[in-house]
Amino acid sequence: MKIPFNKPGFVGNEQAYMAKALANGQISGDGKFTRQCHAFLEKELGVPKALLTTSCTHALEMTALLLNIQPGDEVIVPSFTFVSTVNAFVLRGARPVFVDIRPDTLNLDESCLEQLITPRTKAIVPVHYAGVGCEMDAILAIAGRYGIPVVEDNAHGLLGRYKGRWLGTFGCLATQSFHETKNFTCGEGGALLINDPRYVERAEILREKGTNRSQVFRGQADKYSWIDLGSSYLPSDLLAAFLLAQFEARDHIQAQRRRLWEFYAAHLRDWALQHHVGLPFVPEHCEQPYHMFYMLMPSLAARQALIDHLKTRSILAVFHYLPLHLSVMGRRFSSRPGNCLPGDCPVTESVSNRLVRLPFYIGLSEADQARVVAAIIECPAL
Ligand SMILES: *Cc1c(COP(=O)(O)O)cnc(C)c1O
Repeated sequence: MKIPFNKPGFVGNEQAYMAKALANGQISGDGKFTRQCHAFLEKELGVPKALLTTSCTHALEMTALLLNIQPGDEVIVPSFTFVSTVNAFVLRGARPVFVDIRPDTLNLDESCLEQLITPRTKAIVPVHYAGVGCEMDAILAIAGRYGIPVVEDNAHGLLGRYKGRWLGTFGCLATQSFHETKNFTCGEGGALLINDPRYVERAEILREKGTNRSQVFRGQADKYSWIDLGSSYLPSDLLAAFLLAQFEARDHIQAQRRRLWEFYAAHLRDWALQHHVGLPFVPEHCEQPYHMFYMLMPSLAARQALIDHLKTRSILAVFHYLPLHLSVMGRRFSSRPGNCLPGDCPVTESVSNRLVRLPFYIGLSEADQARVVAAIIECPAL
């Protein structure tokens, strides 16, 4: 029996809520279920405004529009992240400035940040890797000194906290993903969290194709017209119905993911120590949302050997994030020498070669997890 890397977890009410959306007669965007999803995010996180989007990628594109990113502007991003964190800004003509990561949390290294700031820096985009908070006090202090907006890519971090405060509530804007691989999903989806209320009105307009449609619906304007840039960033209410079922099962989902994470951590601790394998590090002041379980192998060869060995046991383990500063697009758009060559982000390059993610999804049984652990421990090449 194969153990996949990921499987979408259904929690019970998804089909019933989608059937209700059909019965309501509204399957386009911003229906009843979308409003309930907005209310859930706003209430749980205490953010002034949440807007569902078609993906985290699109929420990031909205942040680039909201910050008026122009050709030639610079945006500071970790090299160790998903392409969308950077692509969303490059689409507006921005040049990425890649920052290395910390070797412990694999988050943007705040001690490298200040030296990368120039008068052209228009945004800093920390990614809370594996849902473990970046050092937000230091990042916000530096950004504040230069008046640079911070956008959190919180795709991994919904319900994680830094010093007791929810991730996604630190930046003026933050983005969430509800892709199938994330803790809460509707297949493809995302959200924009708006912490600075100055962005709310324009965000609604950008999301509605550059029109003031939302204002007309609320009776705040009497004609609906084209007044700004925009695109179509709102998901169907059918997807919101699916997502609401997941949100409502929040305790169940998070308890299961916590159990999965703690099982791996407990059963791999001794083996990891003996074999110089790194396990995830969560600082005291961070609470993680149990998004993933990864290991840092001693070398690229050891990682490949482990992945190959697990494959022979029908277990799929994967690696991710090739350094963006070394990618074709990273090199093409990077703003300066010394920022897109091997050795320029040494921690990113090392981690990218050594990281492996283990199967991690709701419904992964303890027996299957024990099989994964046993296979790892028996890997002959280590
Ligand atoms: C998943 C992910 C995204 C993209 O999310 P989509 O909803 O698929 O667009 C962006 N950033 C990070 C860090 C991610 O993990």
